[in-house]
Amino acid sequence: MARNPRYDILFEPVRIGPVTARNRFYAVPHAAGMTNAMPHMRAKFRETKAEGGWGVVCSGYVSIDPSSDDAPLPFATLWDEDDIRSHALMTEAVHRQGALAGIELWHGGGSVMNRTSRMPPMSPSGTSWMATHVNFMGNQRPRAMDARDIRQLLASQKEAARRARRAGFDILYVYAGMGYLPYEFLLSEWNQRTDEYGGSVANRVRIVRQLLEVTHEAAGGTCAVALRISLEELRARPSVAAASEAHEVVQLLAEVPDLWDVKMDSSPTDCSPSRFSAEGTHEPVIEFVKKITSKPVVGVGRFTSPDTMVGQIRRGVLDLIGGARPSIADPFLPRKIDEGREQDIRECIGCNICISSWHDGVPVRCTQNPTIGEEWRRGWHPERIARAGSDASVLIVGAGPAGLECALSLGRRGYQVNVAEAADEIGGRLRFETRLPGLAAWGRVLEWRRGQIQKLDNVSIYRGNRLSAAEILELGNTHVVIATGSRWARLLYSPLEIPVGMLDGPGVYTPDDIAAGTTIEGPVVVYDYDNYYMGGVLAEHLAKSTAPVTYVTPAGHASAWTIMSNEQPQVHRMLAANDIALHTLTRVTAFTPGEVTLSNQFTNAERRLPCRSLVIVGARFAADGLYSELGRREADLKSAGIRSVTRIGDALAPGAIVHAVYSGRRYAEEMDADAESIAYRRDAPLNRRPAASEPAETADLA
Ligand code: ADP
Ligand code: SF4
Repeated sequence: MARNPRYDILFEPVRIGPVTARNRFYAVPHAAGMTNAMPHMRAKFRETKAEGGWGVVCSGYVSIDPSSDDAPLPFATLWDEDDIRSHALMTEAVHRQGALAGIELWHGGGSVMNRTSRMPPMSPSGTSWMATHVNFMGNQRPRAMDARDIRQLLASQKEAARRARRAGFDILYVYAGMGYLPYEFLLSEWNQRTDEYGGSVANRVRIVRQLLEVTHEAAGGTCAVALRISLEELRARPSVAAASEAHEVVQLLAEVPDLWDVKMDSSPTDCSPSRFSAEGTHEPVIEFVKKITSKPVVGVGRFTSPDTMVGQIRRGVLDLIGGARPSIADPFLPRKIDEGREQDIRECIGCNICISSWHDGVPVRCTQNPTIGEEWRRGWHPERIARAGSDASVLIVGAGPAGLECALSLGRRGYQVNVAEAADEIGGRLRFETRLPGLAAWGRVLEWRRGQIQKLDNVSIYRGNRLSAAEILELGNTHVVIATGSRWARLLYSPLEIPVGMLDGPGVYTPDDIAAGTTIEGPVVVYDYDNYYMGGVLAEHLAKSTAPVTYVTPAGHASAWTIMSNEQPQVHRMLAANDIALHTLTRVTAFTPGEVTLSNQFTNAERRLPCRSLVIVGARFAADGLYSELGRREADLKSAGIRSVTRIGDALAPGAIVHAVYSGRRYAEEMDADAESIAYRRDAPLNRRPAASEPAETADLA
């Protein structure tokens, strides 16, 4: 199909200093959990974005020297000659697909702990970031930088930029954002220096200017120099010389970089979940930059709609449409717009599972795109899949995220697929969950798969069909996939943090009951030891209809795991805004309709609250009865011609939607595949040259 002329503007080339991007689609730097230890995975992952049409594809954060070491978070390095080869794999791959390659050169300053390099961290004035996020918290405080440290920082940036150029990068970054070192100079809390680098905004900006200058020197007029800067805090601060400190900073540096990459200051606001914020929330903070500089400006906003993108350009907010999450959920987003296939875009749902992968220290995962990170090690591709290896037919029981992804991927391979769904509508857990507060955008998981499956003649879906084992045997497909989901349990929670003690009386409910439409009477206690979104979301849902609601958790925070997905700060605000009382470090130990007994997790001190309904959001178990029954009927399976029965998704192991989608894809990819292609390839760092000399032997201390 031809491109809609309305979107032509998105495909105009953009000049960035000495280089030119082929279009306005800019895959911004984002953490992807692939360090120099996984150079082939990293290169293929970024190549896929370039293949999908992004005009620029950037690296994640790359440390310029060992004084910036973010372990255990997964960061890349460009510390020496050997690291050049590792990154060159990516630049070659990206260039092969016609895109420019950018590198986010990075120094963490006082926000890193240097746990591996064991060098004392440094910050402008010895001020530290007292983070309470468990993966960032530490007990090493930075030292204040002296004049020598500043000279060393500039030298390190210059050397790293030279290496980046030799590695083949086209755009070299100075990164003054998100609490990292150059940003620390900009912000008065971090920077209390009395020399020419502290005090006035002009002084605080000096180091950023110098970093840009040395990067330009290293670029030698062949690479562009980009400034990535966080403007949220600065924008909130008054300035005598301009509309805000952010305006003053941009005025002072206006024409120094070849490209402005503008963003927010902290991960929860920069990469905010759709549960609490819409697309394009950066605009009120960054919209002024283009009015000051003549250089191109790139910014993000979870943009997936081409009309919104065009609006950003026409209204003079951005020149280049930045994408991190949209480029993960759909690496082929630009191509689809180019080919007039906007309806095929697999839109990001804003769940932030991708960001949680970085917090977990592992390669990026995505709820919508199960192939991300698997391009090299499993050979999966977001738009292509191997042709069927046989004429087998597959019966999938259950049309939740696992069943639907499995049906789509098997259908695309060319298998005959029949899907039976007990309910009148497909979607599984999404049928209920997308009606809960803030989760409507998650419906894209269902809608995208529904739309794609409709294009396939060989996939049939039978709604309102609850199959029994006998019916499955009668239908006689070659393979049977059980994707029947999971059930929440009415279990309490032991001091050892293990679900125990069934509480199955009147007034005790689980999310399954609320999904089934059961009326809940207040006062309600939502007891959450699942720790992801369901407890918090249900508390909000019930507070709107059945107040008062109390939220109880044995964890230290509400929805404790959501610190990983950037939701937690907002969860606490939501509880307060809805007058939901919060009891942390607390277990429910007894319940009778009318009263619940709570115990402190550590002291066992008890208190009682009035409570008519207790909603337990805790353990979930696979709904795998069908699977077990079929497993007991081996002879019947044989005579029905059924060669395999397999569980996928929650029916195998209850998890988040991301796990279910992945599980469905994996089944489809592995159908009729040989053992070798099923085993994933293990990546390894490129061989390093041996050290010039081993350390001299020393005498024993004893
Ligand atoms: P997952 O996340 O693993 O996809 P879900 O719980 O979202 O799991 O979806 C499971 C789906 O399976 C639900 O829509 C449910 O109605 C359906 N289902 C469960 N048992 C049967 C059955 N015996 N026959 C057909 N569909 C079933
Ligand atoms: Fe978007 Fe969620 Fe995928 Fe991240 S994991 S790219 S937020 S759909």
